[in-house]
Amino acid sequence: MSVDSQLPPEPEAPATDTRPPAIRVHNLYRYFGRLKAVNGISFEIPHGSVCGFVGANGAGKTTTMRILASLDYPTMGLAEVCGINVVHHPEQVRRLIGWMPDHFGNYEHMTVLEYLDFYARAFGYSGDERRERVQEVMEFTDLVPLADRFSNKLSKGMTQRLCLGRALLHDPQVLIMDEPAAGLDPKARVELKHLIRVLAEEGKTIFISSHILSELGEMCDSLLFVNNGQIVHHGDAESLKAGTDGAGGALFDVQLVGDPQSLSDWCAVNPHVEFLESRKFGGRIRVDREDPETAAGVLARMVRDGLQVVEFHKEQRNLEDAFIDMLGRIDRGEVAQPPPQPPPAPSFTPPGQGS
Ligand code: ATP
Repeated sequence: MSVDSQLPPEPEAPATDTRPPAIRVHNLYRYFGRLKAVNGISFEIPHGSVCGFVGANGAGKTTTMRILASLDYPTMGLAEVCGINVVHHPEQVRRLIGWMPDHFGNYEHMTVLEYLDFYARAFGYSGDERRERVQEVMEFTDLVPLADRFSNKLSKGMTQRLCLGRALLHDPQVLIMDEPAAGLDPKARVELKHLIRVLAEEGKTIFISSHILSELGEMCDSLLFVNNGQIVHHGDAESLKAGTDGAGGALFDVQLVGDPQSLSDWCAVNPHVEFLESRKFGGRIRVDREDPETAAGVLARMVRDGLQVVEFHKEQRNLEDAFIDMLGRIDRGEVAQPPPQPPPAPSFTPPGQGS
């Protein structure tokens, strides 16, 4: 027996994913007249991950998603799904993606089963395969008990599940979901979150926009923040919170006996503190330094100045705080916005935009 054969086998190096990213956007612009809805954004989303897309109203989320779904043309720049250019090969891209728009039409007098069957035909399925796809999707989205209900008579949560079912019929690799949780009650949101995590565990890539940041934080591997058509942060929820903590100090819930307004009045004339929001018996404040000595000093000054403090409690920063914080720092010019990169030469001329 040779010496080599007695050695333990070398551990195999983890296989590197050589595929192009599930989503790649590079230097993407979309102008509506003079309005720069998307203003030179670049990002990549790896396969099998869930990426949350966050931004204020009008920040450019839907426009970006519609371009990726091949429903709109960029003014300039590159958008690819699994390495396929969405402008040059929209049919190929549509086979790879499931698209859940924020609003979608329903057909009157069509049951849930008929609706899904109709779309399964449109995706080119026939015979047993079509019936199996529809059944599989109805089971996944828990629509079996609703098979005979008219699709335009469903609740918001059921409608969203139907829309998700429709988007999943052709078993897409990438799901693009625009505000899927909007208007859902807490139970329906939990169900939707669960379905999204199951899909991610199956290896699908999910790009999802939402205003409910706490939920995105729980469900997403990364968060992409957009502001005025530009990316201002791309990272996981923890890095976002950590990134703003250093600059943002510490948050405290303060409760008083007496007039809760006295807290905001006190903050207005004292250094190192900022009043953030009113609460029933006081409010939420930010102390601009993290160290306990500064917090103790603030509390001591409050008491010295006659505020009857009954609770002074440090709070964890949540994603909403981090997001608002970041927007505030951008407005105050404390965060350098990446300068728009020089627009690349247009790779094509969208219909109606040529000379
Ligand atoms: P919301 O969270 O409110 O859905 P959003 O981040 O999805 O906002 P978009 O819908 O992408 O924002 O819109 C970005 C900007 O582009 C907005 O100022 C919007 O009014 C404008 N816009 C979007 N579509 C068009 C269009 N077809 N024509 C003109 N302006 C448009």
